[in-house]
Amino acid sequence: MKQRVVIAIALACHTKLLIADEPTTALDVTIQAQVLELIKKYREKYETAMLMITHDLGIVAEVCDRVAVMYAGSIVECGTLEDVFNCTLHPYTEGLFSSLPNINQRAARLTPIPGAMPDPTRLPKGCSFAPRCAYATEACVQAEQSDYMVSDTHMVRCSRYQEPNFRIKRRVAP
Ligand code: SF4
Repeated sequence: MKQRVVIAIALACHTKLLIADEPTTALDVTIQAQVLELIKKYREKYETAMLMITHDLGIVAEVCDRVAVMYAGSIVECGTLEDVFNCTLHPYTEGLFSSLPNINQRAARLTPIPGAMPDPTRLPKGCSFAPRCAYATEACVQAEQSDYMVSDTHMVRCSRYQEPNFRIKRRVAP
């Protein structure tokens, strides 16, 4: 109830930008759906911009137009919802999707991302994701990573996209 009151206070301000940081965490699925519906209606009615911060890809799919995927404090992939969900580029984003159960696929086990997040005060040299990345090469460990625009709307921070034939394994959208 406290969480709902705080959401109501935020919406009552009729702000131009609503920053929603995990707004539905710990709510049950029914209340979560009600809150998301309320936020969507509010956004349309008052033409409010919204920055949604969440670890829940289902919420992203439901309410977001543009998506930025962050790893170890940096944006590693950014694009429209369709870009990121249907044409996934970064190995970390691929790992996030692979960790989810897929209603269309029967699998004995999910595929988690191996390892753990690095200590933000002691990030690894080169690509921060390299110690956990199935596509890592020696160059990934050595080189600072840059952003690559693969289309007008879709950015990825992964140096392997300099290689003309580099592709991650295609995942099936959940
Ligand atoms: S730069 Fe290398 S280690 Fe980093 S995400 Fe790309 S392939 Fe993986």
